[in-house]
Amino acid sequence: PEQWREIMNKKMWFPPELISAIEEGKIELLCGLLKTGDGIIRQLDESEDRQWREALNLSICLGSEDAMDALLQGVKFDFRQIHEALLVAVDTNQPRVVKRLLDRLDQEKGNKMDVRSFSQAIFDHSIDNSQFAPGVTPLTLACQKDLYDIVTMLTQKGHVIPWPHKISCACLECRNGRQYDLLKFSLSRINTYRGIASRAYLTVTANDAMLQAFRLSRELRKLSQKEPEFKQPQYLALELLCQDFAVELLGMCRNQSEVTTILNSCGDESQDSIEEQAFEEGIPSLSRLRLAVNYNQKQFVAHPICQQVLSSIWCGNLAGWRGSRTAWKLLVSVGIFLTMPLLCLVYWIAPKSKVGKILKIPVIKFLLHSASYLWFLITLLGESITMEMYRDKFASREQNILHSSFHMVWVVFFWYECKEVWIEGLRSYFLDWWNCLDMMVLSMYLASFVLRVLIMLKGYFLCHEHSGTEECVYFTETVRDNWHQEDPQLIAEVLFAVTSMLSFTRLAYILPAHESLGTLQISIGKMIDDMMFMFILMIIGTAFLCGINNVYVPYVISPHLGFNETFHFLFWTMFGVANQDYVDMPQFVLAEFVGRILYGIFTLVIVIVLLNMLIAMITNSFQKIEDDADVEWKFARSKLYLSYFREGLTMPVPFNIIPSPKAVFYILGIFRQICCCCTCNPENKYPPVASMGSEDSQFPYRQQVIRALVQRYIESARREFEETKRKIGNRITELSKATFRMHSDVNVVRQLLVDDVHSTNHAFNKDGSSLLRKYIMGAKNNFRG
Ligand SMILES: [Zn+2]
Repeated sequence: PEQWREIMNKKMWFPPELISAIEEGKIELLCGLLKTGDGIIRQLDESEDRQWREALNLSICLGSEDAMDALLQGVKFDFRQIHEALLVAVDTNQPRVVKRLLDRLDQEKGNKMDVRSFSQAIFDHSIDNSQFAPGVTPLTLACQKDLYDIVTMLTQKGHVIPWPHKISCACLECRNGRQYDLLKFSLSRINTYRGIASRAYLTVTANDAMLQAFRLSRELRKLSQKEPEFKQPQYLALELLCQDFAVELLGMCRNQSEVTTILNSCGDESQDSIEEQAFEEGIPSLSRLRLAVNYNQKQFVAHPICQQVLSSIWCGNLAGWRGSRTAWKLLVSVGIFLTMPLLCLVYWIAPKSKVGKILKIPVIKFLLHSASYLWFLITLLGESITMEMYRDKFASREQNILHSSFHMVWVVFFWYECKEVWIEGLRSYFLDWWNCLDMMVLSMYLASFVLRVLIMLKGYFLCHEHSGTEECVYFTETVRDNWHQEDPQLIAEVLFAVTSMLSFTRLAYILPAHESLGTLQISIGKMIDDMMFMFILMIIGTAFLCGINNVYVPYVISPHLGFNETFHFLFWTMFGVANQDYVDMPQFVLAEFVGRILYGIFTLVIVIVLLNMLIAMITNSFQKIEDDADVEWKFARSKLYLSYFREGLTMPVPFNIIPSPKAVFYILGIFRQICCCCTCNPENKYPPVASMGSEDSQFPYRQQVIRALVQRYIESARREFEETKRKIGNRITELSKATFRMHSDVNVVRQLLVDDVHSTNHAFNKDGSSLLRKYIMGAKNNFRG
């Protein structure tokens, strides 16, 4: 009999009445169906797997916990079925059911299976009509739906979302997955990222949610470039989510001390790098803000809280500066512009004096540097004018180096640049395109100057040894007409011309300080940004250049020949200022005909392309730029502000090369340190004990603040959720009331109709139907509302 019972237990057919019993909530019937034998837990039949699952899922969906309990007790579900039930419970947001199912899973096999089933899901080939995609775990699902309670519960149970491997990872698991099913592989990656980047996961698991959001957003941006197929809807949307999350978290700050703590500290490992950077006293390091700038978190940086902190530091003690009128600001700027050398002298002598301290305030520092730059531009202009006045001298070999190279005083910018490179680190320095341009301009100035010096020296030495030789004469007395094409002086002049033009581009670095100028600059810059049309224009131009040139080249009689002329002709045709006779050649009809047709097509195509370019510039990008020009401007301005918060570099350009007494002390200090390093061991390397202590006490406070912010964030999210739930609930009760009313109304109408049929009055009948229509319309409106 024992064996027989075993066999009986293995077979438990799916009772057909089960589903309806669950639907109608008949618990007794359900229990009866399950306990057909003698109350022993039943085994499942493979072929009816799906139906059992449906029964369990249905009981969870309907929220009838009794039915679920009965099923769980009466039937032996395997891991995959419970897993799916868990997904349903998460999907319908029932934390209590989730907890019960988790306990059940613990009884079964422990939660190790969770991760395994996830990685195996990729290799599952069967077509499953489960409502969840393969590879979705309860945790990722809960994260995507931002269910804070369930996420907390699951993470406490030890569930984690494993960080996806790199996109180019060549490990066995990834290779197999990719080979087996590429789509599933990518989708599961994205699903995982969707879980990791969700607010719920970040708030519950991350130690420093804001920092984690920064990092994730950068990673997602990189991924969107590496996997461009999923760029638009998936990765970029997730990136935006991360950025918004960081901004919202910042918005949870309630007082200044929280803000300062948050902005001044970033992750632990970067704590060291902050110490390397030196800051003026009274100016906080703002390391998290710097990090946000580096990670391109524009919304974060443009947040009012950040902007307020920045501008308060920018103005320093000059509290009146922000509120003062533009005229007053202008006056002060002009005053600084004129008295710059004097101010620098004062600072050089007494950096600790009152004036010295004022000069150290970032806004004044900025004005000083801008003034120096403006002086440089004025010098350039002055030099151009002098060149014209002493034309004969400049045209010949006997120009004086001192006359033409006064601007070189400013190219000690170079010194400044070198110092900046040294402070900031090479990599981040070259990340900014303006710095690259600066470097280029400076090296071109230097090259031009060196060439001039070279000519002078060469002339001097050649004539010194044996005067009268051909070379000596060439380098000292020849006139311009006799110079070689590649004469150093010609090159130097051209270089100088180009560079003096490029020098003005640095003004773009100063403009963001002013609101309307800054926004305008950004709008224009962005417009130039998407000029892929240029590429198309170039292709079309080259094609027609070849065609038209080849039509006309073989005819020797044609007056204008050659590539150069054709290019000229086509280029100016774009702007409608070309001489149309170019294509005329009356002696040769065929060539003229073909040439004219080609020219006609070229004109048409060019007009269309240029028109398109104009339209695209005006509509698409302009609107887009208008929308976020403000954010962009604030971001650019913050960068400018931050670059002036650093210690040192107070003296503007021509004066910065003079070593200040402070620098001398500094160098002496370095020497002493080097000597000490030889004698005594690395003790000096560590910062003094006091700062360590303060850091220690600061660490938990930072953690506390972050935690408080996260807590507030979760609270507000929960409140919002409750609010919407309440609203929906109200709406549903309203609707059900309306249907109830309609029901009774319809009943009345039916009664009326029945009565009318008895009296058989046709007109009445019509009246009844119109009444019915009215009610139906009313019901419709009710639903619409
Ligand atoms: Zn891998």
